[in-house]
Amino acid sequence: MNRYWPEGMPTSLDYPDLAAGELLTAAARLYGDRLAVVDGAEQLTFAELHQQAVAFAHGVRDAGVRDGDVVLLHQPNSLWFLVTYYGALLAGATVVPANPLQPAPGLRSQLLDTGAVLAVSHPAHLATLLDAREGTGVRTVVVVPPTATAPCAKLPPAHDGVVPLADFAADGAGAPPRTAVAGDDTAHIIYTGGTTGVPKGVRVLHRNVIANVAQMTAWRAAHLITAGESGEIRLRPLSGPHDQRVHPGAAVTLMVSPLFHVHALVNMSFLLLCGTTVVLTGRFSPENLLAAVEHHRATYLLGSPTMWHALVDSPDVHTRDLSSVRVISSGGAPADKATLLALQAVFPQALVVEGYGLTEGTCVVTSAPLRSDAPRKLGSVGLPLCDTTLEIRSTTGDGALCGPHEVGELWVRGPQVTAGYLNQPEASAEQFVEGWLRTGDLGYTDEEGFVFLSGRAKEMLIYKGYNVYPRELEDILRSHRGVRAAAVVGSPDARVGQKPTAFVVARTGAVIDPDELMAYVAERVVPYKRIRAVHVVDSLPLSAAGKVLKSALRVPSTTGQEG
Ligand code: AMP
Repeated sequence: MNRYWPEGMPTSLDYPDLAAGELLTAAARLYGDRLAVVDGAEQLTFAELHQQAVAFAHGVRDAGVRDGDVVLLHQPNSLWFLVTYYGALLAGATVVPANPLQPAPGLRSQLLDTGAVLAVSHPAHLATLLDAREGTGVRTVVVVPPTATAPCAKLPPAHDGVVPLADFAADGAGAPPRTAVAGDDTAHIIYTGGTTGVPKGVRVLHRNVIANVAQMTAWRAAHLITAGESGEIRLRPLSGPHDQRVHPGAAVTLMVSPLFHVHALVNMSFLLLCGTTVVLTGRFSPENLLAAVEHHRATYLLGSPTMWHALVDSPDVHTRDLSSVRVISSGGAPADKATLLALQAVFPQALVVEGYGLTEGTCVVTSAPLRSDAPRKLGSVGLPLCDTTLEIRSTTGDGALCGPHEVGELWVRGPQVTAGYLNQPEASAEQFVEGWLRTGDLGYTDEEGFVFLSGRAKEMLIYKGYNVYPRELEDILRSHRGVRAAAVVGSPDARVGQKPTAFVVARTGAVIDPDELMAYVAERVVPYKRIRAVHVVDSLPLSAAGKVLKSALRVPSTTGQEG
């Protein structure tokens, strides 16, 4: 148990044995006519979103899909993403959300690996899907219409065997199809590992999704999920002094992050269950986002650090009314302290918090308490959620437990730990050990149990036998007035091991002098951590979820001189 624990927050929760699609059914019952999703001029209430999802679910069943068959979603964020995602879940299918920008060979691997039988695409990406589908088990392709947030300049010609969504989900109002799907069945298969290696499909069970949504609902909205008399999901307020920032039925969020990634996908179910109106924003621009905050009176912002960097640098932060925002939740990649402080200055009335999670842990593992009476620990990703045990284990071989402030690898146990990788018994056995998830992330806890991350184990570099954690150096680089973004990698060097090497992007109008920047870092770290080379670049390669693709930043090995 952590020494700091929010008063009134249970350490353990009940998790009803239900399928994840029930979360939308519950939201429709709880919030009926409230707006659920806004996509330009198109919008759906909770009842309408559910009705559309049910119609799609019947189309899926009519197409011969049975419990546990795989439906792959290949589309950008739009209201049809939500309709087809929940519709496929309500049909009892296992959903694979794929990145629509992925080239055909990678997509084909996912279709083959999962044995997908039905795919949902978007007119702008249909050609890739049809190419990838050759030789796979996909029998039916459904194409959704373009929308304001997912437009398509030139509609593709009609294809044999490609069914427009309007025809596919033509009838089926009323109740969802009957399925026998329950907690131990697979809700999602989500591919991850793209920043470091070959993507692996993570098997996320329905009970993982229900548990993680229940954990977030308790932690962030001070409500418990319970099962009613006929098994339906209900919400019950927690007793105790909760400084509530997310009020069920009253929150408004702007969804920028891609829904094919767990961070947005599972948060979406939490947000809908809490009656949050989700405004889809389409392609990110800081100016559009700030205008949307003002226009929709957004209360909850969720995103990754790249988004915050761009936001705080925008001149519009001084002209827009941003006073509606009550929570800013950052996750998915390391947020540097300078940006978090700048964000807090732009949104003084909001709680700016960080959370940490990974696909193998469904979505969220730790999160800062959403309470103004909680200790503010800049740079911490918060506490493990209810029912979640986190151990920091030494990386030196014996796996001994580390004490406070001692860096080791994070191991996690809890109801959100998923069922392992699809068709990868060896990789699963390495990462999923006796109920524990070995995260591959390095970090430490403080005396109160707050978690701080130091980087990925695979990204740690060793300079003359000393461990160097890129995260610390990236934070320092980002605190320099001329630096907008920074990433540190090790460049192999026969004499010293790996030299800490920085790739930096300058702020608009700033000129970076590599020597001055190296001296700036040197003044702030012990000598072995000094940056030995600086490369100024126009941008850093990013994954769709906003993570820096460090594998694309490796520098060639040298036998050369130590810097
Ligand atoms: P993914 O499975 O794609 O969601 O990636 C998960 C990885 O993102 C984790 O293992 C961490 O390395 C990283 N990550 C997630 N949240 C944070 C955070 N708040 N700070 C730093 N790294 C994070």
